[in-house]
Amino acid sequence: MEFFDISRTLFEGMAVWPGDPEFSRTQSLSMEEGAASNVSLIALGSHTGTHVDAPLHLIRTGTDVALLPLSHFVGPARVLDLVGRKCILPGHFEGIDWQGVRRVLFKTCDHPSPDRLFDQNYTCLDQKAAEFLVGKGILLVGIDTPSVDPFDSTDLLAHKTLLSSGVVIVEGLALDLISPGDYWLACLPLKIAGSDGSPVRAVLWR
Ligand SMILES: [Zn+2]
Repeated sequence: MEFFDISRTLFEGMAVWPGDPEFSRTQSLSMEEGAASNVSLIALGSHTGTHVDAPLHLIRTGTDVALLPLSHFVGPARVLDLVGRKCILPGHFEGIDWQGVRRVLFKTCDHPSPDRLFDQNYTCLDQKAAEFLVGKGILLVGIDTPSVDPFDSTDLLAHKTLLSSGVVIVEGLALDLISPGDYWLACLPLKIAGSDGSPVRAVLWR
């Protein structure tokens, strides 16, 4: 079995969504300083790096990340190549056989994105494309950008369309080295009560 790590590394100084908390890891207990063990204090926003959006992210009464069904996050997934598109439209799905596809990951970038710089010009998902995916019974939509909606969006229609239909969103994937095709996916959120999102360790294998 071949495993592919499609998660971003979390480190101090990494790019985060402008205005979100910065990532930090400090040594809380240190063996070098005489402690019996090493323990880190980790601080981060719930949407840092590769992460899941729970419905609660944009829906006041939505489900939190701890209560999301595990079945969404583990199972067969298809990676689609949409490199070079400004916005993913329903027309880009023509010719795809969606039979049996429940999880879809959009590769929009074929080079490693700068991990210390936030790039506002990323590919987004059009609301009509989000509606199309809901109609196909998709459980999980993943993308290698910081958001499924454009950076300057205030209505966040792709998010709302997916989350209000029970589709979970995984953002900030690292897919530059992944060939399009069918894989198995696991990307489980931490069980954080009341949280609108969570970092995940996302892996593909086949
Ligand atoms: Zn999001």
